[in-house]
Amino acid sequence: MRVTINEDKLHSLICSAGNIVIFGHENPDGDSIGSAVGMYHYLTGIGKKSHIVIASRLPDNLDFLIPEGSTSYYSEDASACEQAIAAADLLIFLDMNGVDRSGALSKVVSSSAAGVCKVLIDHHLNPKVEDFDVVISDTEVSSACELLYEVLLRQSGVDGDIQKLSLECVTAIMAGILTDTNNFSNSVYPSTYLAVSALQARGVDRDSLYDSVFRSYSKSRMRLMGYMLKDNMRFLSPCVAYFTLSLAEKEAYGFVRGDSEGFVNLPLSIKDIQMSALFTEDVGYIKVSLRSKGNIDVNDFAHRYCNGGGHKNASGGKLYIPLAQVPGFFESKVKEFFAQ
Ligand code: 5GP
Ligand code: MN
Repeated sequence: MRVTINEDKLHSLICSAGNIVIFGHENPDGDSIGSAVGMYHYLTGIGKKSHIVIASRLPDNLDFLIPEGSTSYYSEDASACEQAIAAADLLIFLDMNGVDRSGALSKVVSSSAAGVCKVLIDHHLNPKVEDFDVVISDTEVSSACELLYEVLLRQSGVDGDIQKLSLECVTAIMAGILTDTNNFSNSVYPSTYLAVSALQARGVDRDSLYDSVFRSYSKSRMRLMGYMLKDNMRFLSPCVAYFTLSLAEKEAYGFVRGDSEGFVNLPLSIKDIQMSALFTEDVGYIKVSLRSKGNIDVNDFAHRYCNGGGHKNASGGKLYIPLAQVPGFFESKVKEFFAQ
């Protein structure tokens, strides 16, 4: 579904803004980073000052995308984020369907920037259109990055000419498409191939990007993956698999941010598995990642039972129960979900 409200205003809002703040979602992934950084490079290219704010740090393997001095993390430097937001006259939210997905930053927005113009560029289901002045939402694209690419091409001054976008900008956009499609294994539309073809022709070094994103993990991550597959993967009914990962197990394997990226996809390579979940213990909550094949709607599952949402075949959320209760909880919700 495509929802566009006031897109024609975007260019004039950007032109008249002095301080733009770009928001990534909490627990940012490649699409969140790619779209925020892509927007940052576009704005820099047209002489606009902007700053990226994100609730928490990104996986280390994506750090290379972040331009020096461009980004503040609320978990590390709350006052830098607060100052940037307080000084902003335009807020741009990417890869999230509502301001609340910016995590702890959403409170800062409501306390010090409630009246500031807000723009949404996103591909998730159920955009909270009431949160924004400009809404550009399309669920039929691979990623926020693919949508951003289309939006930037439509900007006056770019006028459909990709050469007008810098190599840094298009590289960040390609990184988001690569990661959100899991290297073109899901959420790929005909428009996605057209976009990546143009991005590669523009000069993106796809092979080097692939190496940086998918081939720069640590040995300990590989060991953790082996342990998870051997000892932690459990099955419910013939078609559901799940893992749990505790704080203690993270510590034992020297876990760093991003080390469990992609684990949730692994059980889907088993023939009859249609739905897969990863429950990762964090301080104060359990992070939930859900994936599915075909018609199984994990966005519905995340929304009903896990305080979250996302896409039909890839969603996430949070639980506020001890990890030990997760297997019983998940089993009962899976039964309820598949019985309806
Ligand atoms: P992941 O499992 O990779 O963290 O997230 C998969 C998808 O679910 C992403 O599109 C992400 O934006 C969405 N998602 C993850 N966690 C949450 C959450 O807590 N709330 C909502 N609404 N969406 C989430
Ligand atoms: Mn995304």
